[in-house]
Amino acid sequence: MTVDQGLRDLIYALALKYAIKYGGKTSTKSLVGKIIAIRPDVRSKVREIIPEIERIVKEVNEMTLEEQKTLLEKYAEMLPEEKPKEEKKGLPPLSGADVGKVRMRFAPGPSGPLHIGHSRAVVLNDEYVKMYKGKFILRLEDTNPKNVLPEAYEMIKEDVSWLGAKWHEFYIQSDRMQIYYEHARKLLEMGKAYICTEDPEVWRKKKVHGGKIPERELPPEDQLEKWEKMLDGDYKPGEAVFVVKTDLNHPNPAVRDFVGFRIVEEPHPRIGDKYRVYPTYNFAVAIDDHLMGITHVLRGKDHLVNTMRQEYIYEHFGWEKPYFYHYGLVSMENVILKTTVIKEGIKKGKFIGWDDPRLGTLRALAKRGISPEALRKYWIDVGLKEVDIKFSWDILYAYNRELIDRKANRYFFVWDPIKVRIKGTGRYEAKIPKHPNDLSRGYRVRTVELPTEVYISRDDWESIKEGELFRLKDLFNVKRVKDYLEYAGNDLSIIKRGSKIIHWICGEGIKTVVYKPDGSIVGGICEPEVLESVGKVVQFERFGYCRIERLPDGTVVGYFAHS
Ligand code: GLU
Repeated sequence: MTVDQGLRDLIYALALKYAIKYGGKTSTKSLVGKIIAIRPDVRSKVREIIPEIERIVKEVNEMTLEEQKTLLEKYAEMLPEEKPKEEKKGLPPLSGADVGKVRMRFAPGPSGPLHIGHSRAVVLNDEYVKMYKGKFILRLEDTNPKNVLPEAYEMIKEDVSWLGAKWHEFYIQSDRMQIYYEHARKLLEMGKAYICTEDPEVWRKKKVHGGKIPERELPPEDQLEKWEKMLDGDYKPGEAVFVVKTDLNHPNPAVRDFVGFRIVEEPHPRIGDKYRVYPTYNFAVAIDDHLMGITHVLRGKDHLVNTMRQEYIYEHFGWEKPYFYHYGLVSMENVILKTTVIKEGIKKGKFIGWDDPRLGTLRALAKRGISPEALRKYWIDVGLKEVDIKFSWDILYAYNRELIDRKANRYFFVWDPIKVRIKGTGRYEAKIPKHPNDLSRGYRVRTVELPTEVYISRDDWESIKEGELFRLKDLFNVKRVKDYLEYAGNDLSIIKRGSKIIHWICGEGIKTVVYKPDGSIVGGICEPEVLESVGKVVQFERFGYCRIERLPDGTVVGYFAHS
């Protein structure tokens, strides 16, 4: 089949549209279905038009985003009118939620700063609290002294604030030990808990296989006596635990009687050696959720068994239960989240800190210029769905691109630069807008006097054949002759004919290092105006969005967000 003009224009239009949507690049594979959807007649002959699609995709991919946008205006009429998208619904309503009465909490353990996984709970709780004009409680769950990082208390507050959530009340569990002790005593008095001094493994086997646990049957007086001994230090760690009674016939052995307190002799990093008996997560969380009047608990499906355990505490005390929601789990690829791994890596100098761009911490995302609004949008989309999902970096990046593109100034960054001579005569001026859609931000103005030398990326140089005509973006056209370039006028129509447009630096560039999340490092030079954007996100043209910092020696550092 020959590709007629109409079909060719349609391919251009689609290639431009989707390249723009995804930051400047598209692919043949992704376009084929879209072409067939509009032109079903080509379905049976698709193989014959693939070379033409490939050619157009290549041409479009080599344009800058701005050129693509300009060209799309010309082709836009080829595209069928889009049906208005169904209005995206926000979060589903919560059961039993009354405006003004909702109380929800985010309750992380201070073992490190927050990572992407945590941000889901922050965003969902905060969104619902806002939706119902309720109260948001931030509670740090630090009753496992072995799992506490002192700096994390402050870091978590900063991370929650960065996400745009405001807490109305703040608690730290290690301040509430006496409250947990009081409730422990009450449960012992009610015969709903016992002190177990059996070998942990023997006790566990009895629960699974149904053996007798004699200590479980002892009267409250004996239990209280042993509890006091536990507190007084008469037992060593592992010799005695406080156990909450549940149902020894519960179909899930994990729910049968669970540990509510254990002895820990290491000093607590925050409160020292004041206590040696600490509540478990399941005990403290149930007491606090009740006392803090939490109405709705949102947590991952991995907490289902914990919820069942906690419900026994509510039942023993006769408390009304909150509404529990368990959302699906999110698996994440290509990212480091584990606190222990990160801590070790920082100690060994493998990571620069908790904000190393290879990490999935919120501070690493912030450093790279991922905006909290993008994350928020992502988690609201995912909502409370119960199915497990795979985290999509592409979607997060697409949301982020939408948010930062307006703000990001454009600059040239020549990675892996080589110096190439341009022959010719005359003086030329390049006036390049810092943002193509906002000329009020000004221009980068360069005067180039020929003959001269320019820096271009080695990749570009190697991709250009001898005799090939191409364009130095916003300056003029050049032709490669052996190992140098020759001035070749300023006829813009070469772009339309598929010539490459590459970026360049003439004169002083600033030494630049870009750190990518995959651990790779890209070195090069950038335009001096980049220094106006320290602390901000810029777009290095044909490379991607980076957040800029500057080293004391003047080197520009870019933390790569995405393309
Ligand atoms: N500290 C718990 C966690 O971070 C809280 C979970 C919950 O109780 O919902 O997993």
